[in-house]
Amino acid sequence: MSVIGIDFGNESCYIAVAKAGGIETITNDYSLRGTPSCVAFSPKNRILGVAAKNQMVTNMKNTVFGFKRLLGRKYSDPHVQKELKHFPFKVEQRTDGGIGIRVNYLGEDNVFSPEQITAMLFTKLKDVAATALQTQVNDCVISVPSYFTNAERNALLDAATIAGLNVLRLMNETSATALAYGIYKQDLPAPEEKPRNVVFVDFGHSSLQVAACAFNKGKLRVLATSTDPFCGGRDIDMALAEYFCQDFMTRYKLDARKNQRAFLRLLQEVEKIKKQMSANSTRLPLNIECFMEERDVTGEMQRPQMEQICTETFNRVERTLRGILHNAKLRPEDINSVEIVGGSTRIPAVKNLIEQVFGKQASTTLNQDEAVSRGCALQCAMLSPAVRVREFNVTDAQPYAVRLAWDAARGEDGDMEVFPAFHAAPFSKMLTFYRKEPFSVSAYYSDQVPYPDSFIGQWNIRDVQATAEGESQKVKLKVRVNIHGIVTVASASLVEKKQDSSQNENVEMENSNENAQGTQDAPMETNGGSQEQQQQQNGPDNQEVREDEMKGEPQQKQSWTQRVGQWFSGENNDDKKDKSKDKSKKVLVKTIELPIDARTHGYAQHDLNSYMEQEGKMQAQDRQEKERADARNALEEYVYELRGKLSEGEVLHDFVAEDQRQRLVNQLDALEQWLYDEGEDQNRQVYSDKLGELRTEGEPIKQRRLEFELRPGALDDYALAI
Ligand code: ATP
Ligand code: MG
Repeated sequence: MSVIGIDFGNESCYIAVAKAGGIETITNDYSLRGTPSCVAFSPKNRILGVAAKNQMVTNMKNTVFGFKRLLGRKYSDPHVQKELKHFPFKVEQRTDGGIGIRVNYLGEDNVFSPEQITAMLFTKLKDVAATALQTQVNDCVISVPSYFTNAERNALLDAATIAGLNVLRLMNETSATALAYGIYKQDLPAPEEKPRNVVFVDFGHSSLQVAACAFNKGKLRVLATSTDPFCGGRDIDMALAEYFCQDFMTRYKLDARKNQRAFLRLLQEVEKIKKQMSANSTRLPLNIECFMEERDVTGEMQRPQMEQICTETFNRVERTLRGILHNAKLRPEDINSVEIVGGSTRIPAVKNLIEQVFGKQASTTLNQDEAVSRGCALQCAMLSPAVRVREFNVTDAQPYAVRLAWDAARGEDGDMEVFPAFHAAPFSKMLTFYRKEPFSVSAYYSDQVPYPDSFIGQWNIRDVQATAEGESQKVKLKVRVNIHGIVTVASASLVEKKQDSSQNENVEMENSNENAQGTQDAPMETNGGSQEQQQQQNGPDNQEVREDEMKGEPQQKQSWTQRVGQWFSGENNDDKKDKSKDKSKKVLVKTIELPIDARTHGYAQHDLNSYMEQEGKMQAQDRQEKERADARNALEEYVYELRGKLSEGEVLHDFVAEDQRQRLVNQLDALEQWLYDEGEDQNRQVYSDKLGELRTEGEPIKQRRLEFELRPGALDDYALAI
């Protein structure tokens, strides 16, 4: 069982594996470490990764890229509408408002969702890993931008499910980087000492992410993040391409904006020149042959000019860098080092901005391309029993404030902030409601999120009834930011409490709730090794911590304060009363798990099942096509090999009668012709039958030669012959 980490980048993906000896990056079928996030379709199969990118310009309409940005979004989303302008492939609105990517596959029109396309890429990555490791791969940790909202995270999980991956954690990209940094640092301050603050800057293809982390021996805590989801290396490419479009318009009267293929080629060329400019400050040429209307174009660019063209992008970078100081409440002098990763941090202007903002040079301790995947592999190893690695605790931060609203019984309504921005995650909080009937709560982001709506989910708590005396019941909701950074109502339970004078030890003390641990008094606890920090009411001893977290909610509506608030401040007293009245009496608590109907983002199970089935069929088709191509190649190879060896002066020439040799060579010539003709596209069996027939003629000849060589005295004959 292997343990892998996947950096799912907007431009390329990296896979790392955790082994007993350390973390390794897995190379793909082209012996490359990075696999382009590219999925293409042909009349016969899907083309994934490197091969897809290689044929992009010639199969533009059926080569899909940039889909990480579309996950979990609706077609009408303004952000999606903006992205569409850059896609040469067709994107349309599905009946449910979702995004459909229309491609020609197997000679027919097919519409796939961004989740499905992502799943196809994951299928490839899974395959690359399985081939390299010679074992089945399921468990993984996948990276996700820290600014991804619930909808996007759920979509990514759905994509992984479709691809048959078991995601142990969706890990924020900058947190994965921080882990990859921390685990090898031998000199971190002791736990009780002042932590070492390190800022991580990841400037990739489509976004910029900055995180400030506090390190102590064996642990890290994400203090805050600052991100610009709409600022990346591709914006520089786009600005440069625009510049050259203008330039070609003036000098050649060619409008590349009107020609998608030309524009795509231009984008590829400006990306190259952009990379060269990072290492080279001289004037660099740009040449594209047969660009448009059968004309070649040339241009040139120098670094200062590029910086001027991309001023807007660099301004955004600066703003985001400064943002981390504000969000993490750090001054530059509080920061020990600024570590950079991501392809676009190679740009000198970005390094200069870092120096300007933080007053220190950017450090390149980490592998810029592989740090995220390595961090994910480390995290995967920590979460999986398969490989043992040194423990390193990661406390992440939930970047957006989350509010819970409820539509209470009898016209009450309420609203409270459950998690302020940058609250530690994963984390659970218990909220208590007093209710006589079923009720619902909904969660939403109260901060600005890079998503068109702030809705997170709605949960209907069923089976709530009044007590026999007609009183309200106490219902506890566990609101959680889970290990994937997804906000959810994890459980609802009805709590019945009564004093027991009989001291019946058989009665369950506290409760059937999955997370309750009797009357354990540790305020924070680890749940089943999942690193999830629980904060919950486990009896009076825990009250203080929970109150700490919950107090000061000025937004609480009156009715709620009376009801729930009373419980927060009051229950402790109740319990004390219970205790003080008669210490020998036990408080019996019975907890009943309540059914919840949830309405959140992500696919319904039956949709997931059908997508999984579809993915399975496509994989079978790809396998079949590969076998077919392999059979054709095997036949072709045999034809060339045999014909070569039968020719004048070659090894098999003298081991077959001349007339038979001639007939065979003619047959081989005909076969070669056939392979490029009607034999181009036959099914596997046809090739293997032909190969079989051919071998019945060819193998005996080879055999005769072998026997000749092995017979005693063969060497003497050979000596005589010369
Ligand atoms: P994201 O993190 O945005 O999802 P990603 O992880 O695929 O995307 P990276 O691989 O970190 O992105 O970076 C790719 C970007 O870095 C591309 O825009 C690429 O052009 C740019 N890049 C790579 N090398 C250089 C370089 N030497 N100089 C400038 N830019 C570079
Ligand atoms: Mg990246």
